[in-house]
Amino acid sequence: MSKAKLFVISGPSGCGKGTVLVQLLERHPELFYSVSATTRAPRAGMETDGVQYHFLSREAFEEMIRRDGFIEYKQYCDNLYGTPRQPVEDAMAAGRSVILEIETEGMREVVRQYPDCVTVFIAPPSLEVLAQRLAGRQSESEEKRNKRLRRAAEELMRKNDYQYVVVNDALEDAVEALDQIYCAEIEK
Ligand code: 5GP
Repeated sequence: MSKAKLFVISGPSGCGKGTVLVQLLERHPELFYSVSATTRAPRAGMETDGVQYHFLSREAFEEMIRRDGFIEYKQYCDNLYGTPRQPVEDAMAAGRSVILEIETEGMREVVRQYPDCVTVFIAPPSLEVLAQRLAGRQSESEEKRNKRLRRAAEELMRKNDYQYVVVNDALEDAVEALDQIYCAEIEK
């Protein structure tokens, strides 16, 4: 029998994890994707409130911290990001597997609270490819991109803290690899 599990997926900004996850979710509608909250502004024309993120003011975010509304929250490149507690707990109580897409420090916090969670790092083929992908996105200023790239280099050094590493070279292969990890883990 399959068993619902909590999956924590990380990968540096621009590694393509968003696209990989969208395709995994298309294959597995039973999975619950946790929509994080953030104080970052939406990327114009690309992001909708409540879909990629709940876009909150800093005041609203801080109020949610006070109400213990997050499983974890962290600062990433000047903005706050957090995992809302209630939807995740509800999904798990209903027996659904849950996916959190969060950065490496958040992963450690989640592992502390949920030691049985499954951790997967999605890596770019190289830092050069990542720099090209970030440049191609054109959603950030050069200064912000450089900050993200420095943070990406730091995050890449953490990849061995994860149970699985998937290199996103060809999209289809990365989706297939993640799918296999998911199927194997819920059957354990
Ligand atoms: P982006 O601004 O590119 O959407 O996300 C920046 C980073 O924040 C990514 O590494 C992403 O995984 C991470 N992130 C998104 N949501 C959360 C969250 O709820 N908690 C934590 N700790 N990190 C998050």
